[in-house]
Amino acid sequence: MAFKKFDDRPSRDFPPRKMLKGNWKCADCGKEITELPFEPSPDRPTYCRECWQKRRTQKFGR
Ligand SMILES: [Zn+2]
Repeated sequence: MAFKKFDDRPSRDFPPRKMLKGNWKCADCGKEITELPFEPSPDRPTYCRECWQKRRTQKFGR
C-alpha cells in the first residue's frame, strides 16, 4: 500500500468550489444571481460576477 502524493494528479483542474444556490439580485445591474461562491452578507449589497470584478478593479484604479 502506497500513499500517493497530491501532485500525482494529471492536471490542475478547477478546485471544487462550493457554490451557494439561491435567488439574489445584483445591486448594480439588477441581474438575477442564482449562484454565489460566497455567502452574501445581509448588510452588504450583492453583486453579480461581472459587477464584482468591475468594482474590484475600480478600487485599484484610484
Ligand atoms: Zn451586476
